[in-house]
Amino acid sequence: MSRSQSVEDYLKAIYKLENEEEGGVSNSRLASEMEVSNASVTNMVKRLSDRGLVDYTSYYGSRLTAPGRKIALEIIRHHRLLELYLKEMLGYSWDEVHEEAEKLEHHISEQFGDKIAEMLNDPRFDPHGDPIPSKDGEMPVMKTYPLSEFESGLHCMISRVKDQNPELLRYLEKLGLIPGVKLRIVDREPFDGPITLEIADKKISIGYNVAESIFVIQE
Ligand SMILES: [Zn+2]
Repeated sequence: MSRSQSVEDYLKAIYKLENEEEGGVSNSRLASEMEVSNASVTNMVKRLSDRGLVDYTSYYGSRLTAPGRKIALEIIRHHRLLELYLKEMLGYSWDEVHEEAEKLEHHISEQFGDKIAEMLNDPRFDPHGDPIPSKDGEMPVMKTYPLSEFESGLHCMISRVKDQNPELLRYLEKLGLIPGVKLRIVDREPFDGPITLEIADKKISIGYNVAESIFVIQE
């Protein structure tokens, strides 16, 4: 069975959306995630379903089958290993690695992925704090919540940040908001207003949108 880049991208997107919301993934959600037309999604979902990679019903939407999930996790593993490799071994900055990994992830063999993992001592997280699935397709379970959902007074630690927006990543790095950093929520304005944080005795204020891109675990 041929595995085109777009097949892999769709499986990855369905995996992501399945984890964001309960239930199946509708074609319209998939279309907006992939930034393509509904007609393209309908076509592709039919192909994926014919190949046994997704279960699709018009009522429920798409769900990955076991073989579909296996491919999605392999691509995600490659993506995250590549991001770390680019950063640690090739000197890329953390805002550059996602775009590069998006391209490379489709072209490396399993052996190449394993070599990277070996060289980096079987890392568990990518540079943005996302967990790296194991070689046998296990995704570490990590319960994290957007910083924007927390009340003031709480102590927490940044676990991961969204990886797609380079400008946002540069901004977060400048403020010192990177995985592993501990902080306290000092104050939050109502109506999605700014949130004030305390990090190592320093107070900073961030917008609600920024806080939505930072995922934390409660300390
Ligand atoms: Zn990425």
